[in-house]
Amino acid sequence: MAKKQGHPKTEQSESGNNNAAATNFIRTIIDDDLKTGKNDGRVATRFPPEPNGYLHIGHAKSICLNFGIARDYNGTCNLRFDDTNPEKEEIEYVDSIKTDVRWLGFDWEEREYYASDYFEQLYDFAVHLIKAGRAYVDSLSAEEIRDHRGTLTEPGKQSPYRDRSVEENLDLFERMRAGEFKDGAHVLRAKIDMASPNMNMRDPAIYRIRHAAHHRTGDKWCIYPMYDYTHCLSDALEKITHSICTLEFEDHRPLYDWVLDQLPVPCHPQQIEFARLNLSFTVLSKRKLIELVDQGHVDGWDDPRMPTISGYRRRGYTPEAIRNFCDRIGVAKRDSVVDVALLEYCLREDLNARAPRVMAVLRPLKVVITNYPAGQSEELGAVNHPEYPERGTRKVPFGRELYIEQEDFMEAPPKKFFRLAPGREVRLRYAYFIKCEEVIKDAAGNVTEVHCTYDPTTRGGDSPDGRKVKATLHWVSAAHAIKAEVRLYDRLFNDENPAAAKQGEHFTDHINPKSLETLTGCRLEPSLAAAQPGDQVQFERLGYFIADTADSKPGTPVFNRTVTLRDQWAKFAKKKK
Ligand code: ATP
Ligand code: MG
Repeated sequence: MAKKQGHPKTEQSESGNNNAAATNFIRTIIDDDLKTGKNDGRVATRFPPEPNGYLHIGHAKSICLNFGIARDYNGTCNLRFDDTNPEKEEIEYVDSIKTDVRWLGFDWEEREYYASDYFEQLYDFAVHLIKAGRAYVDSLSAEEIRDHRGTLTEPGKQSPYRDRSVEENLDLFERMRAGEFKDGAHVLRAKIDMASPNMNMRDPAIYRIRHAAHHRTGDKWCIYPMYDYTHCLSDALEKITHSICTLEFEDHRPLYDWVLDQLPVPCHPQQIEFARLNLSFTVLSKRKLIELVDQGHVDGWDDPRMPTISGYRRRGYTPEAIRNFCDRIGVAKRDSVVDVALLEYCLREDLNARAPRVMAVLRPLKVVITNYPAGQSEELGAVNHPEYPERGTRKVPFGRELYIEQEDFMEAPPKKFFRLAPGREVRLRYAYFIKCEEVIKDAAGNVTEVHCTYDPTTRGGDSPDGRKVKATLHWVSAAHAIKAEVRLYDRLFNDENPAAAKQGEHFTDHINPKSLETLTGCRLEPSLAAAQPGDQVQFERLGYFIADTADSKPGTPVFNRTVTLRDQWAKFAKKKK
């Protein structure tokens, strides 16, 4: 049975509770802005994915934060694709991102934007910068530009092209656009300060030449704006008020503000940084996730072991569990690693309430009830959810031949094993007490059947004479059970921090070889014959399972294990210490 679990120790959201409106430092900033009348009381955020991969659980944190703020402040949250990189971006990713944001429960209404929609406007702004003497075309090679950049302790050197005239810059930039030059021949740079202690301010490139087709603009452009230049202007054009991003952009904020200060933009959003989500036993960088997919370590982006939203969905995670998790971890200014056990805790909590209970035997061992008449069967009442009687009961058939779990029987049990063993009596859930009388083996000495007797007076699972047994087993009737494939998924990595590659190691060295075990001879109670793809249940004593959305069909079910009933890794962690 699912036990109520203790809350694992984690960082709580700053309000100490876990309701959706838990406050955080970003909300405090917004509250202050509303008090002082900044932005005329408007709150506008955006979620800005680059469509170069599928969304992962880190993105979910950002989605919950941005859309959650819009919801709670009666504001808006835009979905904006940051599609400035023609080579790595694809429609497939755009579509998956939209599906995932919707599935998480958020709605951008008609506000679906693309940075590429602003390319013409961004080009005009660049011309504006050139005319104002704030940008120049540099013709150094990429390597030379790197050499000129200086270091954290030494200032950079100015490019010999830095003082080109406005006319020459305008001419070259126009010809860059017209396709007269090869990739890398020139870049357009902001003219800021080569001696700035902030490397991002040392005349950053804002346009580069790339003769590559873009998934939305096709061959229209062969120059593409850089991220730092595009992002702040996209925010401003959309009249975003609070541009929330992760901490690695903190050093880019002066550039964000500089660009907006030079140009006639309709508003100047405030960039606010927060700590990105890191999860133990998980990698969350798109580059690494792409590698897992491309090298076949997993079966695609939606493999149930992937930390992608689509992977979690197929695994049986619910949007409620993920949103609840995002609320609980809160929003902080300092990087930390969240224990993946907290995510699993939120999941169990949600599935415990949601999932009907059923019986399934994953590794069947035949039990013959020798005093039960052959050819006879009966139906026993089983409750669908112990905490919600209003969800009713169902019938499970019982007969002379049953299956129990192989691991619930031991011929020579050690001291602490209380389940079935020779001469011992146990309860079959919702059914009867049975007692093991004989063990049948094959020529090799493997147990093939267990012969038991049942006590007809214990129907329903209680003994009228008050006799106690130490174990209750789940079971299915051999004649009625349906066959199924069950995929036992576990954590993909067996190292707490797989991304921190130690010397000579690669993060894929830490892949858990047991992250997937496929069992084909499983037996399910007959009520599951009609299971629809996506149906979620608890197999009693075993865990939460979902009928696979790709491979399961009514009649031939395939179930994925979403999560076990208890944290199996806690023991492992203790042992290691
Ligand atoms: P990755 O580092 O995984 O490649 P990214 O930051 O390049 O991710 P984007 O598509 O640019 O991916 O991210 C969209 C938004 O999601 C950005 O605002 C980014 O800050 C945010 N985001 C990405 N990863 C995380 C994370 N781990 N935790 C919180 N927010 C994140
Ligand atoms: Mg990014």
